[in-house]
Amino acid sequence: MSFQSLMLSQKLQDTIKQLGYIEPTQIQKESIPLLLEGKDILATSQTGTGKTASFVLPMLENLEERDEPQKGDERYKIDALILAPTRELVLQIHEKIEAYATEFSHKSVALYGGIKLGSQVKEIRTGANIAVSTTARVREHIKNRSINLSNVKIVILDEADKMLDMGFIDDIRAIIAQIPKKIGEKKRHSIMFSATFPPKIMKLANSFLDNPITIEIDKENLSTKQVKQLIHLVKEEDKISLLTTLIRNSRWHQVLIFSNTKIQANIIVQKLNDASIKAQAIHGDKSQGQRVEALNAFKEQKISVLVATDVAARGIDIINLPHVINFELPLKNEDYIHRIGRTGRAKQNGQALSLICEKEKEQLKEIEILINQTLDSISTEGFEYKPKINNEKKQKKSTKEEKSTLKKAKEIAERISKKDNSDSNQKKNSKKSPRNRRYF
Ligand code: AMP
Repeated sequence: MSFQSLMLSQKLQDTIKQLGYIEPTQIQKESIPLLLEGKDILATSQTGTGKTASFVLPMLENLEERDEPQKGDERYKIDALILAPTRELVLQIHEKIEAYATEFSHKSVALYGGIKLGSQVKEIRTGANIAVSTTARVREHIKNRSINLSNVKIVILDEADKMLDMGFIDDIRAIIAQIPKKIGEKKRHSIMFSATFPPKIMKLANSFLDNPITIEIDKENLSTKQVKQLIHLVKEEDKISLLTTLIRNSRWHQVLIFSNTKIQANIIVQKLNDASIKAQAIHGDKSQGQRVEALNAFKEQKISVLVATDVAARGIDIINLPHVINFELPLKNEDYIHRIGRTGRAKQNGQALSLICEKEKEQLKEIEILINQTLDSISTEGFEYKPKINNEKKQKKSTKEEKSTLKKAKEIAERISKKDNSDSNQKKNSKKSPRNRRYF
């Protein structure tokens, strides 16, 4: 299938061609035609699948271009609002809009905290019609009367599950309450992406979306297929020296390392720098300026290692990132998929290596069930791992624990494949539209 058959305008097709996109990704094939028709959708949002273009391209086509500059209070009115959980993701979506919208008069503004409102207010006032924002910052602008949502016709919630995990539900509801459900005869176009569909997401979807069509991209199509996933068993206390050895000996030039805590991220950076490996960290304690600077230095290959916590790294798009390392397994098993999805993006191959110590072996089993594969193990001279010898009693205990782990992991896998929580909603919606597909 080509972009041409998706009914996008010639000017947008030309831009896409210039960006080197040859054919649409699966999510783009499925969502673009529906969104061009103005249908609400609820879609899975795995990383690296081309999700951003899947909602940005039809949005650019559907929004009316502004011929005349706005005057007076009209200047604070925007036409489309995109909410995302982190500043990094906001900036990234904003940058993609700018890249895709070169042939349109549409103008995007990125709204996020950590900097003064002033420059953002100026951009809104001087003609931005699309706002990409974190929830807290758009509320600040509403309070400051420097944004007016009464004319918003398209609303997109990206990574909705993450926004809810981060406790933003009240913000989201307050923001949506400011946006009319209809302007004249035209109903609001509402779109929601989420990696998982727990009941709280379905509740939000039911109140926010109108007769939505659900799109779930077959797991086979996920970019994780492009990722070679490996593990390295290692003693916990040896992890940092193993990391240094691996990076140095293999001459890896771009490595994204995940750690679970800010403190751990700082320690890793310190130790790598001590070993003359240029590294920086991005996490919640870093200022916006520091985070952007570290990310840019990494993208431009001025530093070879970026150490990130899960929240800071969410949605980060680094073209051709070859290596992701899990210094430790994530606190939530689902985040394993998000982490390794940083590499192997847009059909490039990548490698994801997890450093596993004794206490993580049970969790590794859960993750292997979740991704439905057993991960190959590699070893490094000098870091050979000798598993503890279990006595019979311990083995019995571990079989029992294993069963309970397997049970827990199956529950997670079921949740991920979204089979457990929306049957009734599916029936209701599928009656209304023959094109409705129900996957969960
Ligand atoms: P996303 O999942 O939106 O973060 O996109 C991941 C990466 O894929 C980004 O670098 C996009 O520029 C790129 N991309 C998006 N759509 C396509 C496409 N149809 N062909 C090739 N690359 C794409």
